[in-house]
Order: sequence, then structure tokens, then C-alpha cells
Amino acid sequence: MILSYVYKLRPNEEQSAKMDNWLDMLRSHYNWCIADRIDNYYQQFIQGEYCDLKTKAVAYPLTSCVVRGGATGYPWTGAGKKRNAGKIQDAELPILKKARPWYALIDSDVLQRNIARLDTAYKNFFEGRGFPKFKNRSNFRSFEYKPGRVIFNFDKSRVYLPGIGEMKYFNSRSIPDGFNIRTITIRRQQQGWYMSVRLENKSVPELSPKPLTEVNTAVGLDLGLIKLVHCSDGSVLDNPKFSTNKKTRQLLKVRQRRINRKKKGSKNRSKAVARVAKLHQKIVDRRSAHQWKLAHKVANKADCIIAEDLNIQGMKSRCKVKKDEKTGQYLKNGQSRKQGLNRAISDAAWGELISKIEYVTAKRGKILVKVDPKHTSQTCGACGHVDKASRDREKFICTNCGFFSHADINAAQNIKLIGIKQYGLNIKKVPRDSGKPKEPIQLKLNLDVLETPSPESTGVRRRQHCTRRSERNVPGNQIGEQLALFDMDILGSSNSA
Ligand SMILES: [Zn+2]
Repeated sequence: MILSYVYKLRPNEEQSAKMDNWLDMLRSHYNWCIADRIDNYYQQFIQGEYCDLKTKAVAYPLTSCVVRGGATGYPWTGAGKKRNAGKIQDAELPILKKARPWYALIDSDVLQRNIARLDTAYKNFFEGRGFPKFKNRSNFRSFEYKPGRVIFNFDKSRVYLPGIGEMKYFNSRSIPDGFNIRTITIRRQQQGWYMSVRLENKSVPELSPKPLTEVNTAVGLDLGLIKLVHCSDGSVLDNPKFSTNKKTRQLLKVRQRRINRKKKGSKNRSKAVARVAKLHQKIVDRRSAHQWKLAHKVANKADCIIAEDLNIQGMKSRCKVKKDEKTGQYLKNGQSRKQGLNRAISDAAWGELISKIEYVTAKRGKILVKVDPKHTSQTCGACGHVDKASRDREKFICTNCGFFSHADINAAQNIKLIGIKQYGLNIKKVPRDSGKPKEPIQLKLNLDVLETPSPESTGVRRRQHCTRRSERNVPGNQIGEQLALFDMDILGSSNSA
């Protein structure tokens, strides 16, 4: 099993400046490596392939000894084996260090891991994901150490990073028994430096979700914005709107404005930028913590969690352009109105929530499955009739059979039914929950409670305060009078007045 624990580092000023410097150098090295590989790729289109006599490798004339899809450098190992692009760039590191002596400041392991990261990026590209990107300061924030290089002193909460030195860290959780420390990633974030430790224990099996045949209970989830989650068992989870609530929006606006009012390139401006970034980080942290709690809450409900398979990118896409046919002028298409909705969708972060629930369910030996949410909010849970008109905001009244329910809870129940059918789940209990909203609690006047409590009997200060107020001789303030007011014919009395 592989775990990843994150600790906050406590570098001194010198160390953090050193790490900043390393990041800048490593970023330029990474970008140089990408450029090198791209250049080598394009050589073949300029001159075509030929075989270099000295290196006996397929080569392109402008850089003399280059393997196809490789890098600038010698393509063979001492044993006569062919090197791939990553290995060539690894082998060229000593030459590069001669040309750029400042690279010698960086631990050589870290430089090699930097090339290995580019290899991973290329591997992802060949598997159909995007082409490796040139990095800038905002998206190159970390470097890695190979396993076994970093030395821990757990008792003193100290860690030795080769090339940087020994520093303290917040030992916030202890490493579980039997786990080996693997790669260590040092990352710069808004609030400081963090260390992500990869832990591995081969004897512990990976988390595996429950087989669908063993599922006994299921719960459907309907994701929304006003309430974050409606469950098919009738429970509702609130949406705290971490970045789109009124207070945070206002705060962001003010802090953003403070940046704009400062002179470009000034120190004060960069301070203001850092302050905004800090706020954003705080929002992200809060949301993530909240979502973990929700994920545990939801995972407690049943063996199988059935969620919607949402196309969130599609929901956030731009509105179609509207044009006046006669004049050719552009008309309002509702995009500016939609922007607020898009923000709310991003803030709800449904995708992240689902992946967290998936992780927690797997950890507990349960399972999460996804179903197509088409028509789930328009279908009647009782008779299966599909009609858009059945739904009126949060109310659902079937136009066919008259079944009524809360619209989102009805949708959650439909999602559950679809999931049970699609995956052939063997649910022991009747799949339909009582989706009816709970009866409103009727307020009954309990005369015993209304009796003036003696301060000695309750001993609560607030109560004392109440009794004192009721002693004042205000009409309608005495309990007896209040009750009398209830009996009075209010309409009659208002007419007479
Ligand atoms: Zn119906």
C-alpha cells in the first residue's frame, strides 16, 4: 500500500532562500530539457534521417549525434546499449554543469529527478494526455529527492535534506509501522514549505472497493448548489459556499482592489498579491477539510454509494453567441448572468467531493458507482412518469399520479434506482425510502413550562433575567395575559379599534 503524508517544514531564512533559488534553477533546467527534446524532434523534418558514423545512431545533421525522439548528447552507453532521451540528458548533466557552473549548487539527485519528471510527463503524453508544458513560477513549485537520501530524526522532529541542510519540521503525525519512506517532494506553497512523504508497505494490500455482488445497502446522491448533497434517505448536507459567500466575495474584491491601486513592480504590490493568494489558499484548505468530513458522513450511510456522473466542464461551458439576423449585431446571450452560476459550480467542487467519497468508501471496504443523471429530476419516483412540468423548483408533484416529494430527494431516489438496476445490486431492503418531507413540528403550548420558574429551581442566569423582565407591569407581558390574548377574537378587536 502507498500512502502520502504531508508535513510542514520550518526552514530558517537562509535555507528557504536556498530552496527558492533551487526552484528557479530547476525550472530553467526543466524548460531547457523540453526545448532540447522538441528541437531534436523537429530536426528530422529539416534534413531527414541519416546515420552518424561516429556514434552509429540515427541522427539529424544540425546537432550531429541525436537519436530519433531523443536529446542532444551521446546516444550509447559504455556497454553499447541505446539510451532514451531521459538517460541521454542524465548522462549530459556533467557537461551541462561545466557550461552552467551554478547547477553544481543543486544536489545531483534532485537534478536527475527533475529529468525523470519530464520523462513521466512524456509518458503521460504518449498515453493520450497533454503535451509537456513549459513551466513558469506559478506552476513549478516543487522538487524531489530519491528514496533513501533524506534522513529523518523523528524524536527531535528534524530532517536532513541533502544540499540544503538540517531543519525542523512539524511532526504532525507519526509514520505507521512497517512503512518505508520512498520519494520525498519538497513543495513551496503560500503559507511556507511543505514536505510530502511517500510511504510504502508491500505486505499491506492496496485499498480495494467491495465487489458489487456483496452489496446489501445503497444510497443515492443528488448534487446541487443550494444544498450540496441530497441523499435518497432524505438527509441533506449544506453547501457552505466557501468562496462565493457574501463575506468572502467582498473580502476578495477589496484585496484585489488593493493590488490594483499599488504601483506595478513595487514591493507593496507583491505584498498585496501574497495576501490575496493566502486568502485563496485558506478557502481551498477550508473546502477540502469540509469535504473530507462530508465524505466520511456519506460513506457511513451504506455499502454502495450511487452518485451522478456529471459533465462539469460541459455545465460551465460558454453560452452560444446570439446574433441579430438583420443588423448583424450581437445580442445578449446570458453569458454574463451565467458567470455567477459557473463560479458557484466551481465553488461547490462536486468532482473533488466525489473523488474523496470514492477514496473513503474504498478505505472502508465499500464502493462508489456512477450513473448517468439524465432525466432523474423529472422522473416520478412512484410511477416512473417523465415530465418536465412535474417539477416546480424544490417541489415535485407528478402530473400523472399525483405523487409528491422534495424534488432533489426524489432525484436522489431515482439515481439510486438507476444504480441498482444498472449494476444489478442485490439490495436486501425495499429500495424505496420514505422520501416525504418530515411533518412540521407542531408548536404546542405547554403550560407547565410557561409557569414562572423560580431562580433557585433552574439556577440559570438567563432564566433569572427573563423572570425579572416579566415582573415589569407591561400589558400583555404577564403569562396569564398572553394566554388571554390568544383567546381573544383578534379580528373583532382590530375592527373595534
Ligand atoms: Zn407519478
